[in-house]
Amino acid sequence: MIVIKIGGAAGVDLDAVCGDVAALVKNGQPVILVHGGSAETNALSTQLGHPPRFVTSTAGFTSRYTDRQTLEIFAMVTAGKINTLLVERLQKYGVNAFGLSGVDGRTIVAQRKEAIRIVENGRKLMLREDYTGKIECVNGELLALLVNAGLTPVIAPLAISTDGDALNVDADRAAAMVAGAVKASQLILLTNVPGLLRNFPDESSLIPFISVNDIDGALGFAEGRMKKKVLGASEALAQGVGKVIFADGRLEHPVAAALEGKGTTIA
Ligand code: ADP
Repeated sequence: MIVIKIGGAAGVDLDAVCGDVAALVKNGQPVILVHGGSAETNALSTQLGHPPRFVTSTAGFTSRYTDRQTLEIFAMVTAGKINTLLVERLQKYGVNAFGLSGVDGRTIVAQRKEAIRIVENGRKLMLREDYTGKIECVNGELLALLVNAGLTPVIAPLAISTDGDALNVDADRAAAMVAGAVKASQLILLTNVPGLLRNFPDESSLIPFISVNDIDGALGFAEGRMKKKVLGASEALAQGVGKVIFADGRLEHPVAAALEGKGTTIA
């Protein structure tokens, strides 16, 4: 099994990704797709008069504050538009894609963060009513059932809490947990950079290979949201995934290039 996460950053060529996925599936290689949608969520939130709010935790991580209205907009964008249009595109390529979010059939269960501690203008605050969570488990058997029925699952990054609330979860971490649950041989994270760069944004400083033992060192090169990808890679490898590849989604054949070794391989 190969799990592919499609980044939400501008530049990833969705049509090229779907074409490559179709070639794999037609060759008998099962694939599961996971996608994000943060850039489009920002745009729609602004259009709907509820602009995004980003908060910094006391530990220094930045994340989207997801109140109920933001959660509903996030669901419209990810489970609604992006998921459906990816499924549509794959169907055009002859792949029987099946869209779902982690809420459906409790595919992704997460622990809701009851309150988050943030720092704003130098002051510490507690924010409640946040609909985000940390993924606890993924129903790999359900995904295997879909794949064995000849379907290609396409997963939107929402989870269900133990209390039955839908939650916004990080798509990179979701892809990592999905890959772990289905014991994927490879997890490919497609984004708009050639891989992990030693001196971001200098694209000639690509790190081609990182040993699983050097992941902590690699975390030092990653800035901002790239950190979550490195953490996801380490989670996936710890769960038995064969290797993780950070690859360039802007290429003519992004998935084929990743499988040929372009990008950053972590193993
Ligand atoms: P996506 O939405 O595609 O998952 P993100 O925006 O979450 O992508 O993360 C990819 C971004 O991480 C890159 O576009 C780049 O701006 C940033 N980044 C930070 N540090 C690095 C690094 N060391 N190497 C590569 N990209 C980095």
